[in-house]
Amino acid sequence: MQSLELTVLGSGTSMGVPTLGCHCAVCESKDPHDKRMRPSVLLSYGGRNVVIDTTPDFRTQAMAARIDRLDAILYTHFHADHIYGLDDIRPYNLKQRAAIPVYAADTTIHVLKRAFAYIFADTPTDSSMPGVELHTIHGPFNLFGLEILPIPAMHGPGPVLGFRFGKVAYLTDFSTIPETSKALLNSLDHFILEALRYDPHPMHVTIEQALELVAELKPKHAWFTHICHDLGHDQTNAKLPENVRLAYDGLRLKVQI
Ligand SMILES: [Zn+2]
Ligand SMILES: [Zn+2]
Ligand SMILES: [Zn+2]
Repeated sequence: MQSLELTVLGSGTSMGVPTLGCHCAVCESKDPHDKRMRPSVLLSYGGRNVVIDTTPDFRTQAMAARIDRLDAILYTHFHADHIYGLDDIRPYNLKQRAAIPVYAADTTIHVLKRAFAYIFADTPTDSSMPGVELHTIHGPFNLFGLEILPIPAMHGPGPVLGFRFGKVAYLTDFSTIPETSKALLNSLDHFILEALRYDPHPMHVTIEQALELVAELKPKHAWFTHICHDLGHDQTNAKLPENVRLAYDGLRLKVQI
């Protein structure tokens, strides 16, 4: 048994909360729980730090969580709100004098190579470059002693990966989840899953759909993430079942693995 600490680095949807140009009650809220950076989590265990996704807010998130070293990156999928902080890993490359392993599905690796063509170009340059070592996810894998179980789901028409480690799972950006993947999400202590808003969306699940999944899978605790500005922290929590809460930036969960 070892302990793992999961930190929610960002709990917001792709545009973040507050949303630019919006003056709704949640965007204007003084409650720090209503300030949501783009979605990502940090896993810290055995002296290692692993992030799931590198958002456009990655640098700010890494400073807030005081991430002094970075050992690996897992990607859920290739959307901009999940990948565009990759360039900001450079200080870790310099400090650790090493490339950082990146684990992703082949569809995501394909887009990373296009979106960050300069990282993968063979042309010599005097600029510092992010150093990455690509690993294609084909199934469960061991990362510094932790078994990582990929959970395939659908995000509108495209694939997305959630990840389970021990009795904790993280699944964001999905609209449907196959029965074979539901079977991998039994007996969870903590399930961090997305719940965008109340109104339906073709690419994301709503609060109602996320609650149905929670009722079916029965994790001990569920935490909603990838939240948009329709959902005020306190007002939404007041309507949720006791074991279900909105996640928030800086939320830390300590678990045994
Ligand atoms: Zn997203
Ligand atoms: Zn707003
Ligand atoms: Zn997405």
